[in-house]
Amino acid sequence: MQIHSKLPNIGTTIFSTMSLLARQHQAINLSQGFPDFECSPVLLQMTQQHMKAGFNQYAPMQGVIQLRERIAEILETCYDRSYSPDSEITVTAGATQGIYTSIAAFINKEDEVIVFEPAYDCYMPAIEVHGGIPIAVELSYPGFFINWQKVKNKISDKTRMIIINSPHNPSATVLTHADLTELENCVKGKNIIVLSDEVYEHMAFDEKPHQSVARFKELSEQSLIVSSFGKTVHTTGWKIGYVAGPKELMAEFRKVHQFLVFAVNHPFQLALADFLADQSTYLQLKYFYQQKRDLFQKLISSSRFTIEPCAGTYFQLLNYKKISDEKDTDFAIHLTKEKKLASVPLSVFYTAKTDNKLLRFCFAKKDETLEKAAEIINGL
Ligand code: PMP
Ligand code: GLN
Repeated sequence: MQIHSKLPNIGTTIFSTMSLLARQHQAINLSQGFPDFECSPVLLQMTQQHMKAGFNQYAPMQGVIQLRERIAEILETCYDRSYSPDSEITVTAGATQGIYTSIAAFINKEDEVIVFEPAYDCYMPAIEVHGGIPIAVELSYPGFFINWQKVKNKISDKTRMIIINSPHNPSATVLTHADLTELENCVKGKNIIVLSDEVYEHMAFDEKPHQSVARFKELSEQSLIVSSFGKTVHTTGWKIGYVAGPKELMAEFRKVHQFLVFAVNHPFQLALADFLADQSTYLQLKYFYQQKRDLFQKLISSSRFTIEPCAGTYFQLLNYKKISDEKDTDFAIHLTKEKKLASVPLSVFYTAKTDNKLLRFCFAKKDETLEKAAEIINGL
């Protein structure tokens, strides 16, 4: 049989690859982004209650109304923008499905999509599967900032979407108010949708508020926001997230959503709606992770790695150019196999495999895990 692959150049994701390598070599796994501690027992209890109460059949296609109402409340509380639970919010199977469905719903053959690199790995393949053309714009290093002139130069009649991600995985930078104003000006009056990946929305540090596209009225009218409860309540394995956007866009989104997954895990949605009634669950998260960041940075402050700034997310970039001139992919593999510490090399997030000698370490870990990892880092 002849297979005409839609993704001829795609292998297994770096996250599966590095986590597998970590397991095979009994390495501390700071590669794939997930907590090594438990979520709240209260949340688990709520989930059980809803299972025992019989909510074990299909949920409504758009998501349970209790959770959509809660999401609207979060958006209003955090960004002062109102989204209709009925027509402007859909619960998805994690952010990945929200992103994929958004691209499936709006990207036609030959449409161009601007993507900033380093880019989270699910954007490019989703664009390519639908016949779209990814237009990569590299963030300037050091600093990983957006050169908006470069963006303006890349916008053409064929541009249908711009994907942004803030706080940004893998660079751990955040977009500023000025960035969002530039973006708003770039797309104003144009037939361009902004897909805003905000899965780390509650993890922007140092009292700098997360700049959601929801804060910008005109921009929000042509944007879809994607988020994930996996990050917010420490349940990456539950795969529940959401997409919010104006009703015209959401109607198209739902046309695809209903045939991609139809609906998402029912009792977990109900439990999330209950649990997130306590606003501290999301409003306090940034302090929790800021402490982890500070601890990790302090533990490795005397190492030979250069600590890159971390303004958000649960990732810390370390530059190893004072230690080795090996390729980052090779260095990450050696570090896992020989020193027993797994990380993610940055070059995999670039089409051009740009290698700035950077590794990404996830600090969503117990303090003792970070202490053990720091010993290895300090020994290099
Ligand atoms: N976007 C970014 C930037 C991510 O880091 C992740 C995963 N951590 C996702 C999307 C996917 O989220 P989910 O696990 O909810 O699909
Ligand atoms: N988003 C997580 C990360 O960046 C991984 C998610 C996944 O494994 N697909 O590490």
